[in-house]
Parts: sequence; C-alpha cells; structure tokens
Amino acid sequence: MPLYSDPRLLALGVIHGTTDRAAGNMRLAENTYRLFKALEINETDILRFKQIHSDRLICVSSREEAQRIQTQCTLQEADGWILRGEGFGAAILTADCVPLLVWDEKASVVALVHCGWRGIAAQLPAKIVQLLQKNGAQGDLSAWAGPHIQSCCFEVQQDVAEKFPSCLLHKNGKLYVDLNKEITCQLTGAGVKTENIRLPYHCTCGDKARFFSYRREHTKDAMLTFVYKP
Ligand SMILES: [Zn+2]
Repeated sequence: MPLYSDPRLLALGVIHGTTDRAAGNMRLAENTYRLFKALEINETDILRFKQIHSDRLICVSSREEAQRIQTQCTLQEADGWILRGEGFGAAILTADCVPLLVWDEKASVVALVHCGWRGIAAQLPAKIVQLLQKNGAQGDLSAWAGPHIQSCCFEVQQDVAEKFPSCLLHKNGKLYVDLNKEITCQLTGAGVKTENIRLPYHCTCGDKARFFSYRREHTKDAMLTFVYKP
C-alpha cells in the first residue's frame, strides 16, 4: 500500500509515513493491524492518544517510558509526541489536518504532531521546535508534512481568517488560508532553516481518489501517520 514519506528521514533509519485511501479508514483496528503487520512492526510498540485539537504534546524519552504509557488503561489527551529512544513509535489520525514531523540532525529526537488550524493558530509548530530543543535536539532541525488540506480548498469564514492575517488568499470574494505558509513562518521564526522544511502539496480535500477528507465527506474516515525507530 502507498505511503507518503520523506526520504531524508528514511535515510536516518526512521520508518514513517502517511497512509492513503487504499489502506482504508485507519480508525478501524483491522486496518492498522494490516498496516503494521506488512511493515513488520509490533503494533503494541506504537503509542496512541486521544486527539483534542489542542497544543498539548507528550514527551517520551525511552522505550521503558513508552511501555509504561501502554499499560495505562485510558488514553491521554494530546495532539503531539516528542520521542527519544528506540524500539517504539507513535501514530496520529488526520483527515485534512496537518500531520507534521520535525526531527533533529540524526533523528535522535522526533516530533509527530496533529496540527489542526486551532493548534496552528495557538503557535503549535513554533512550540514543537522549543520542545525538541528542551529534549536535547542536536544540530539543524528538519520538517515534513503528510497530505493535508491545502489553500485551494481551505475556505474559511472571518472568525478563522482573523487568526491567519498573513496567510490569507482572496478568490472570488472568498477567503482561503495557506496553512503551509503559516507553518513555514512559525518554524523559520523558531530557527529552522527554510531549505530544511518540506511541505508537499497533496490536498486531501481536492484529491478524492487518494485521500479521506472531513471537509469533503463529513465522515470520521481518517488516514494514519506513524513514526517508528527500530
Ligand atoms: Zn484542494
């Protein structure tokens, strides 16, 4: 099954990617089971949380800590992971929101974050950089985003537009937000080099053949973005 991923991060030995429609609705256990089986990853080593469109991130600094989290009976509420250590990973669900990965020079610290417009408006991309640095990130940071809603389809009303004054597009009397521009501004503002930021233009809302889209379909069907360090 196709996976969207970043060759730079694969070269650092980090298995990761975003699924598409072909992999099925990733809210269903049978579909995540099939994905991780195909990748030969033990699904119990993949951390999950309850996504709440916040700016809350959970830092996990070892496999032991990951295993402790897995034994808790209720999922924590958050929208991002900051991961150190090996032998475990994490996953998030999206269907228009931005699955954002940020990592340091040797990918010794990797962030995987569910960035909805609310989180982005709350400076979540900038916060990721600060948290990576607090968790021992070394050298230059790099960033990549999986498929998400792009400025061609992200039409907003005035209340949302007001939160992104420098990333608005006006077309036929309607307002659209360019989330890639906002994410780039926040990351570079926090010290990430522009050339290290790659946000490929795959529009979940505009490409029905390949992606699920909450805005287009109003269903809960979702794609999975995961990261795993062997
Ligand atoms: Zn589009």
